[in-house]
Amino acid sequence: MRISKLLGKTQRDDPAGVELISHKLMLRSAMIYQVGSGIYGYLPLAWAALRKIEEIIRQEMNAAGSQELRLSILQPKELWDTTGRSEAFGEDLFTLIDRKGRTLVVAPTHEEELTEIVKANVSSYRDLPKIVYQIHTKFRDEPRPRGGLMRVREFDMKDAYSLDISEEGLHANYQKMIAAYKAIYKRCGLNAIQVEADSGAIGGKDSHEFVLIADSGEDSIVICQGCGYAANIEKAKFNRVDYSQDNYGDLVEVKTPKVTSINELTAFLDVPDHKTVKTLCYLSGDDLILVVIRGDLQINEVKLKAVIGSQDIKLATSNDIENHGLNKGYISPIGISGFKVIADESLSLGTDFVAGGNTDDMHFSNVNYPRDFKADVMADIALATDGQRCINCPDAELSIRRGIEIGHVFKLGDSFSKDIGATYADESGELKPIIMGCYGIGLGRLLAAAIEQHSDELGIKFPVAIAPYQVHLIAINLEKPEISSLAEKIEEELTDAGIEVLYDDRIESVGVKLNDADLMGMPVRVVVSLRNLKENVIEIKARDSQEVIKVHYDLVVEAIKTLLDERDFYKLKA
Ligand SMILES: [Zn+2]
Repeated sequence: MRISKLLGKTQRDDPAGVELISHKLMLRSAMIYQVGSGIYGYLPLAWAALRKIEEIIRQEMNAAGSQELRLSILQPKELWDTTGRSEAFGEDLFTLIDRKGRTLVVAPTHEEELTEIVKANVSSYRDLPKIVYQIHTKFRDEPRPRGGLMRVREFDMKDAYSLDISEEGLHANYQKMIAAYKAIYKRCGLNAIQVEADSGAIGGKDSHEFVLIADSGEDSIVICQGCGYAANIEKAKFNRVDYSQDNYGDLVEVKTPKVTSINELTAFLDVPDHKTVKTLCYLSGDDLILVVIRGDLQINEVKLKAVIGSQDIKLATSNDIENHGLNKGYISPIGISGFKVIADESLSLGTDFVAGGNTDDMHFSNVNYPRDFKADVMADIALATDGQRCINCPDAELSIRRGIEIGHVFKLGDSFSKDIGATYADESGELKPIIMGCYGIGLGRLLAAAIEQHSDELGIKFPVAIAPYQVHLIAINLEKPEISSLAEKIEEELTDAGIEVLYDDRIESVGVKLNDADLMGMPVRVVVSLRNLKENVIEIKARDSQEVIKVHYDLVVEAIKTLLDERDFYKLKA
């Protein structure tokens, strides 16, 4: 490709109001164009990189025994009502109304349609197991699109679905997909870690994310350096300190005038916060739920949603609390009834707590669970924080890092097949729901993450396997015929050797050409210049190295092959 023919003008300066490195560099190198909020056009360089990512994904999916198919983008909304996900996705769901007045969903994901197709095409245990996938565009009306390709409203995604007759079969396919994902990230030059994750609106049981640790990431990842435990903070477990003692005191009332917060309470009574009980009120529909946790810990709302079984909960306002007849500032589950109580496991890891008295200016002390109050549900609803102890190795401390999610796998189980009625007949003829898993990778997100992980102050440093071109060829003094003919000869020889060349044939200054090469980030730069021509050499330099190598121009192809090979290009080409 000649740069004179390439659509896209590089920009010298950072675009205003753009924070993420990948977003800046993709705009500056003319890879993407913002059409609207969270909507981008891919220019030729981005498209070339995305096609390579796509091909790597396709090869690894096929190698894992998965078949490619293509599902529709427009889907009847009734299909989404069947699984309740038109409601679960809420305003994130793009819909449109056709000429007959029927509502169509513009698909944000494809579990429903795939399950319906499976229902019509799978009848016996002999038809299973199977894995299918597609690489396709999806649409989600993100409330806050941001970060260039990181969070967008229209995006390309590889989504795969496994179909099995049992949990064991699902687990085997789940592991197969995890292995394929690891291979994909490795070939793309990405250092991804696998972390436990919440399954959110997709539903289902086990779930893992693949994450790049990066300060620019939106996700918080909890990591144990001791055993390697890693989880999204939404899901992370930790080992709570046990403060309980053998001897209990009797429940007593204590006067606490105008003391309405945990901070005021611990100061007033001179007790540590782990000796207090914190009660928060949440609304799920019209129901007020009391959520109780030890005072030194915080509620993890994602875990709480999973326990309640609804994504649609919110903290109650003062008005909500008063309307339910409760005394804000002094609430506890002690001595009141009519409300569902959800308690964190920490309540059984302490004794003689102080808790709200449910009347003005009064608390209870020597509160003990379950003697003094009952919980309808006792569960893990606490938020992991820096320095908490690891669930596996209690001496190790957890640390919290930022991460970019670049893949997500879910064990769906039978939730979709039950709702849609996708069954198979087992050996005795009994109909059973098909056991499913689903597996997603966003392509644009992966490209952006690769640039976050592989760039410097000058620009992008593409990993070889996903670089739009492997070589950036620069000719200086192009007006001299001996220069242009040598540059063209090198372009041809490299192309014949299967190496893709981006040739800067513009009449531009040396500085502009070198800066653009650093900005665009192809793995190897080749410079043909009059000065070097006198010595019968050309200069080659890898983008990720400072070393400039001079080689005889007859040996340029071999020298470049060596540089690419050192960067795993041939090994990874598959
Ligand atoms: Zn550990």
